[in-house]
Amino acid sequence: MGLFNNIPTDPPIEVFHLTELFNQDANPSKVNLGIGVYQDENGRTLTLPVVRSVEQQMAQDLTLTKNYLKGTGLDAFCTACLKLVLGEQSPAIVENRACSIQSLSGTGAIRIGLDFLYRNGFRTAYVSSPTWGNHDSILQTIGFEIRKYRYWSKDKLTLDIDGFIADLEAAPEKSVILLHACAHNPTGCDPSREQWIRISDTCKSRQLFPFFDMAYQGFSSGDLDQDAWAIRYFGHEAKHELFVAQSFAKNFSLYNERIGHLVGVFESRDIIPKFRTQMATIIRRNYSNPPAHGAYIVATILNNPTLYGEWKNNVRAMHERIHSMRQLFYNKLKQLGTPGTWEHIIQQTGMFAYTGLNPRQCQVLIQQHHIYIMSDGRINVCAITQRNADEVAQKFYEVIT
Ligand code: PLP
Repeated sequence: MGLFNNIPTDPPIEVFHLTELFNQDANPSKVNLGIGVYQDENGRTLTLPVVRSVEQQMAQDLTLTKNYLKGTGLDAFCTACLKLVLGEQSPAIVENRACSIQSLSGTGAIRIGLDFLYRNGFRTAYVSSPTWGNHDSILQTIGFEIRKYRYWSKDKLTLDIDGFIADLEAAPEKSVILLHACAHNPTGCDPSREQWIRISDTCKSRQLFPFFDMAYQGFSSGDLDQDAWAIRYFGHEAKHELFVAQSFAKNFSLYNERIGHLVGVFESRDIIPKFRTQMATIIRRNYSNPPAHGAYIVATILNNPTLYGEWKNNVRAMHERIHSMRQLFYNKLKQLGTPGTWEHIIQQTGMFAYTGLNPRQCQVLIQQHHIYIMSDGRINVCAITQRNADEVAQKFYEVIT
């Protein structure tokens, strides 16, 4: 009798399962609107030109070794990333109250940040309803009590700011509030600046801890600084202590390099050395130290004004394509006279559109029309191209009518 004969089978992870089904589908007009990966007009996920040129340079650099990095990561990377998130003139940086820890992409940053909070006494965490599915899974694995704050109004197809604030007001002190810094996944709907200020005020008065998840800096507005506005407001103006988990999967198109970082902003600089020792312990017990390739790439780009400028242009170009595909898809749905209002598709930002399709309609799209879509109706807008837009819109029309 084997020791593992009776282990349970876990349910598949929806987004990866969807991609597997898509890969197995032999239909030539199939479209994968599921996974959140940037694609160009030809459906390819290319290495960014600026990344490719840095990699070519790195290949010639004999000083680069495969030696271990320290657990908390590459210093040149962490210092540059901190400025990218908090801004060049950040008071928290000037006063040495902020620090960055390299992580295994955004997911890794969320994990080590939450591990730190749990081992320091935080027990309750709030996530938006809905949110990226992995938030709940990570929180649950660590042992947090998970609560939801209202976010998306199904009826109004927009942000339920009053529900959001009311739920924060009812939260116990020292709750962790997971916030999407920009380009909310899955709804594509972000608070306005006035609404962020209300959220900040409520977090302050209720003594809640803001933990920003920033997986899409640059994808909401096309501008890296604008997309960091909420974080900077919370950190500089409102003087919150806060965390930011940043991913470079999407905006550097470095998905499989697993590169990101965790930012901590504290009231006092005295916390930083203690925070670093704890992060080193957490990392040591999990994976000891992070991979270096992505860190070298990002550090080289962020620390060189010319390359930095090129990268900004690459980010802007990705944003513009997504934006124009949003408009194209909206136009097609309107031209067909598809029942319902579709303005939300062009009002939302970032990589996703939250269409409002129900799970049954999504199932029909997959099974009968070879259009692969998440069961909550979220679509990756850049999977829409000039070539497939007519057909995708037509299939939407058919399942809705
Ligand atoms: N947070 C959100 C909201 C995301 O959508 C994602 C990726 O899809 C991540 C975090 C983390 O991604 P990664 O671990 O690939 O950086």
